Amino acid sequence: MSKQESVRCIACGSGCTPYIDAIWDDRYGSPGTFSILKCDACGQMVTSPQLTEQDLPDLYSRYYPRREVDFTALRNEADLVLREGAAEKRHREGTDNQGHYLVKPGQKVLDIGCGSCVSLLEVRNLGGESWGVEADPNVRAIADHFSLNVHIGSIHDNPFPGLSFDLIVLNQVIEHVPDPPALLKLVRERLNPGGKVVLAFPNTGSLNRRVSGRKWINWHIPYHLHHYNSRSFSLIAEKAGYEVENIKSITPNLWTLLQLRAYGDEAAEGQASTAWTGSGPSVSEKASLAMRWKNRLASRATGLAHGLVGPVNRLADALGLGDSLLVVLRKS
Ligand SMILES: [Zn+2]
Repeated sequence: MSKQESVRCIACGSGCTPYIDAIWDDRYGSPGTFSILKCDACGQMVTSPQLTEQDLPDLYSRYYPRREVDFTALRNEADLVLREGAAEKRHREGTDNQGHYLVKPGQKVLDIGCGSCVSLLEVRNLGGESWGVEADPNVRAIADHFSLNVHIGSIHDNPFPGLSFDLIVLNQVIEHVPDPPALLKLVRERLNPGGKVVLAFPNTGSLNRRVSGRKWINWHIPYHLHHYNSRSFSLIAEKAGYEVENIKSITPNLWTLLQLRAYGDEAAEGQASTAWTGSGPSVSEKASLAMRWKNRLASRATGLAHGLVGPVNRLADALGLGDSLLVVLRKS
């Protein structure tokens, strides 16, 4: 405990003290018990003990699920962005918590942590030029199939040398990296004059976090290393040479449904959750009768919840209490 108490906040430098004593990977069952420390001054939180860059590849390759690649599904998903009313639909569903939707035609966009590359295809559909960086080597096949510019590795490798960007997006990335200020400073060097960095990440200032306590799905231990609120993130950004142009909270309706499902799910340390690792429509043929009934009840509750979560989420978002933050930064 005395070692934990010496941890300094990455946002303001104040001391951090224990906030949640014992928390573990309740999705994929990677081993280990962690704690969450909170800054007494600005509320920034950190997972303890901290994982290092060396720990991450093994952790992700052993425990993080990979979806099977379906090229047609990816293309169809990306083409939805061209439909009439697409932006309104994103707003209703809370899926507009992703920086690349802010692209303007003709802009050069870099998506760090581009995952399935749907965002790169969407940028292309919206008239921008897209580049991506992704650690997962399985993404190579997707990039090649769609002739996308993707660097498999890290932004620390200095990919696409000589290129700079009008928009750099980090969707659900900054909470996964060991040294966020270093990443922000590096990204700043790749901006065109007038360029912007847009980040999306979970909001510890959310209503859901307060209601859910240690069952909040966005603790996502041990993969999420740092946990931000709007104030603490602004401090970090300002120290890294940015001005915060805009900050708003958005709650994807899907997150709320997953949160509701997680309430009924209790995974011990080292044990994967059936709710998170089950494939397809949540119940396998091999599931026990009891499990099938449990899932059937859960999916009925989910159906009921569906009509309610949208309006509740949009209200929470308007009050700044949404479950993710979307932050627009420019060089100060
Ligand atoms: Zn602090």
